[in-house]
Amino acid sequence: MSEYDTSNSFTSAYDNPREDKDCNVNDTPGSTDSTELSSLSTAVFDYIPQAILVLDRSGSTVLVNPAFKKRWVPEDKSASTMSFMDMDIVKRLGIRDVFMSVLEGAICEQQEFTYNPAEEGKTGPIKVYRVSAYPIRTSQEVSHVVFLEEDITREREAEDKAYRLSFYDVLTGLPNRSLLLDRLSQRLAFIQRYPRKDVLVLLNLDRFKVINDARGNQLGDSLLTAVATRLQSIMREADTVARMSADEFALLLPSDDSNSEQIGLTTMIITERIRDALRSPFLIEDESFVVTASFGVTLLPITDDDTPQLALKRADTALHRAKDAGGNQYAFFDPEMGETASENYRVERELADAIRDGQLRLFLQPQVDSAGSIVAAEALVRWEHPSRGLLSPAAFIPIAEQSDLIIEVGKWVLTQACGIIAGCDKAGQMVHISVNMSPRHFRKTNFTLWVKNLLERSGAKPNRLTLEITEGLFIGDMADIVAKMNELVDLGISFSLDDFGTGYSSLAYLKRLPIHELKIDKSFVQDAPTDTNDAALVEAILAVASLLKLRVVAEGVETHLQAEFLNARAHVLHQGYLYGKPESAEKIIERWKM
Ligand code: C2E
Ligand code: CA
Ligand code: CA
Repeated sequence: MSEYDTSNSFTSAYDNPREDKDCNVNDTPGSTDSTELSSLSTAVFDYIPQAILVLDRSGSTVLVNPAFKKRWVPEDKSASTMSFMDMDIVKRLGIRDVFMSVLEGAICEQQEFTYNPAEEGKTGPIKVYRVSAYPIRTSQEVSHVVFLEEDITREREAEDKAYRLSFYDVLTGLPNRSLLLDRLSQRLAFIQRYPRKDVLVLLNLDRFKVINDARGNQLGDSLLTAVATRLQSIMREADTVARMSADEFALLLPSDDSNSEQIGLTTMIITERIRDALRSPFLIEDESFVVTASFGVTLLPITDDDTPQLALKRADTALHRAKDAGGNQYAFFDPEMGETASENYRVERELADAIRDGQLRLFLQPQVDSAGSIVAAEALVRWEHPSRGLLSPAAFIPIAEQSDLIIEVGKWVLTQACGIIAGCDKAGQMVHISVNMSPRHFRKTNFTLWVKNLLERSGAKPNRLTLEITEGLFIGDMADIVAKMNELVDLGISFSLDDFGTGYSSLAYLKRLPIHELKIDKSFVQDAPTDTNDAALVEAILAVASLLKLRVVAEGVETHLQAEFLNARAHVLHQGYLYGKPESAEKIIERWKM
C-alpha cells in the first residue's frame, strides 16, 4: 500500500467529511496544492495510531481509520454495517451520553476506561484508554462527532509512579507523612458525619540511632524495612501504618466506637500485640537484633475543630512522655484515659488466668417470701484476687463483657450453680438458683447445646434454674433469641427479666418472650416509699406482672419501710440486705437448711 493510497483502508467507502472544502487546510504556508493536501490528510488519518471514528447526527458510522478498524472491527465484519453505539463496552462507558452532549453543543467530552483483554477472552497487558469526542460543525449545527481513542497506559503509569513517590516511603513502601495527613483529614471529615473516635499512635524505636551509627546505614535500613513489614503484618486491614521519619512510624486505627474506655482498651491490646511482635529478634545479615519501641497515643477528634496536625502533636507529646519515662512503654496524651486503659487491660489479662487458677468465688444472695423463708437465691460472682482481695463484679464484669472472657465467666458460674443444685438435691435439699446471663454468651450459636450438656453432666434439674437476662439481649436477631429461649424453656429452665424498669421495658417483649419473672430494679424499690413517681412505677409493674401472671422479685430491699410498701401491694419475693447480703454459697446453703 502506497503511503497515500487509502483504497485498502475503510475510509474510501465513506463520504470523507474532510474533503469538504472547509476542512481542507488550504491556508497552510508552502506551495502544496489542494489535491496533494487532501491525500496528505488521508495519509495522516491512516497512519495515526489513535483510533478514530466519525459518526453523523443519527449515530451512523461515516468514517473510521485503520487504527480503529484494527481495534474494534472484527475481520469478518465491515465497519459500515456495525452499530458502534450498541457495543457492550460503549454502553458500559456511557459513550451515548458523551455523543449526545457533544451533539448538543459541548466542545469536547472525555471518558476513560481500563481495558483488560482477559475479560474478552484475549491475552495481553491491561491498558488504559481515553476516549475524546469532538464536534464538527457545518453552518450552525453539529453535523458529525469525531471520537478519538488514545492509549494512555504510559501516562497513567508515570502518574502512578509520581503518586507513589510523593505519598509512599521509598525504603519501606509504607504510606508517608503526606498520605497519613491526607487519611487523617479524610477520617476527620467522615467522623463529622458519623461521630466516633479513632486512635492515632506514634511509634518510635528505642535506641535505633545507636544501632544505625554503630552498624551503618545499610543495616539500619534493612532493620527498618523488617520492622515495617512486621508492623504491617499484624495490623488490621483498615489500619494505616505510615513511616514518618527515620525510625518513627504512625498508626491510624479507625474505630466505630465512641466509648473512650473501650477504645483505650482496644488500643492497649493492639499496642501490646506490637510490643510482642517486636520482641522476637530480627535476623539481619545473619545477626539477630532485638528492638523495643515507645508509643504515644491520642484519640481523635478530641474537639470539634481538631486537625491532623494537632492530633500528631498530641501523639508526639505523649511519645516524649513515654521516652522520658525510659522508653519501651506507651503513654496516652490524656493520662486519665491511659490509666483506665491500662487498668482495664490488666484486669482483662489477669482475669483469664484467674478463671483457670480457680480465683472466682460463687456467692449467693437469698430471695425470701413474705414469711421471710428463703425460696431461691441469686448467684453473684466474686474474684478473690491474690493481691487486691475480694473484688466485686463491678470491677471486672463490664471489662469481661467486652470480649469473650465473659463467656468463660458465665460458663464457670453456670457450672457452679448446677453443681450446687445437683449436690443439694442428692442431700435431699431443694434449692432454686438464678444466674445472670450476659447477652454475648447467650448469643453464642452453641449456647443451648452447651447448657443441655451441662445439665446432663451435672445432674441438675432444669426446673431449679432461672436465667436472668436484661433487655440488652433483645438487640439483634429476635427470632433467633426467641427460638433459643423456647428451647431452654422446653428443657424446664425459666427466665427472669432483670433490672426491669431501667431500659425500654417494652411490654411487647413480655408478650413475645417466654418470661416467667420480673425483677424490679433496686433504684425503684428503694425510693418507692418516698418518691411518688417511683411508687407509681412499682405499682404499674406489679399490675402488669399480675395481668401476665409473672412472678416478681423486688431487688435491693434494705429497710422495713420498703418491705412494707411492697407487701401492702402484692405477693412478691424480696431480695436485699434486709434479708442478707450475698455470701459464699456454702454459708447460704447452710442457712437455707434451717
Ligand atoms: P444485678 O444482677 O442487678 O445484681 C444485684 C446487685 O445488687 C448485686 O451486686 C447485689 O449485691 C446488689 N444488692 C443486693 N441487695 C442489695 C441491697 O439491698 N442494696 C444494695 N445497694 N445492693 C444490693 P453485685 O453482686 O455487686 O453485682 C453487680 C452486678 O454484676 C449484678 O447486678 C450483675 O449485673 C453482675 N453480675 C454479678 N454476677 C454475675 C455473673 O455471674 N454473671 C454476669 N454476667 N453478671 C454478673
Ligand atoms: Ca441479676
Ligand atoms: Ca438486677
